[in-house]
Amino acid sequence: MIRFDNVDKVYASGHQALNNVSFHLKKGEMAFLTGHSGAGKSTLLKLIALLERPTRGNVFINGHSLNTVNRKQVPFVRRDIGIIFQDHRLLMERTVFDNVALPLVIEGYPHLETRRRVAAALDKVGLLGKERLFPTMLSGGEQQRVGIARAVVNKPPIILADEPTGNLDPHLSVEILKLFEEFNRVDVAVLVATHDLGLIARMRYRTLTIKGGYLTNDGLSSESAL
Ligand code: ADP
Ligand code: ADP
Repeated sequence: MIRFDNVDKVYASGHQALNNVSFHLKKGEMAFLTGHSGAGKSTLLKLIALLERPTRGNVFINGHSLNTVNRKQVPFVRRDIGIIFQDHRLLMERTVFDNVALPLVIEGYPHLETRRRVAAALDKVGLLGKERLFPTMLSGGEQQRVGIARAVVNKPPIILADEPTGNLDPHLSVEILKLFEEFNRVDVAVLVATHDLGLIARMRYRTLTIKGGYLTNDGLSSESAL
């Protein structure tokens, strides 16, 4: 589903954020991506989402090389990827419905189908009935779940999450991770970047560890977090 082959990323500043990174995340596999701040986690996710391009090497999604994707094709590749950010990036002056519906509106879904899918996504994250509310009326955990509903509303086969629990307490963090597990159970590939080692230790998942741009460990979370 996601494959990195000897990927380097050197930013225009000259800083090398990733160094010869290779790994393979299969369809329906869930993994953590961990490492200190500045290790290269966000850079790795950005390469998958086509927000950055590799300097060397190749990234494959579904067997297709992203190196051959031109600017016009980028939106089509991105449809397969649901992204969740730490700061959820909701439109605060829009309702919960509008926020979750956004990816479908961009894709031009018919109105009835949009309503049905938004309801299904909100149901999945436990927020059915909150359509008309504004994000400011919700708790931090609920806002994060709106961001998750938006990321999964068009049922992408890949979910990327960048520090999705960064602003949440440990209990809410586990709740969010359980949501990812549910998506994972229906064969969605999930990659969760986090430096929350406590959270990783509580869940037994494959964990990719990066240090200074190098992938230094790829194993089960309980081993790498200790
Ligand atoms: P993490 O997500 O693990 O905190 P990042 O991938 O954000 O790490 O950053 C890795 C390194 O690359 C850091 O040293 C960061 O300062 C640098 N970096 C990130 N984005 C850019 C950029 N656009 N230009 C130059 N350097 C960058
Ligand atoms: P619907 O017809 O309501 O759109 P489907 O019957 O097509 O839903 O999908 C069956 C189930 O597959 C859904 O209930 C949902 O839980 C799950 N599913 C498939 N892909 C995803 C995804 N990317 N994110 C979340 N759930 C998904």
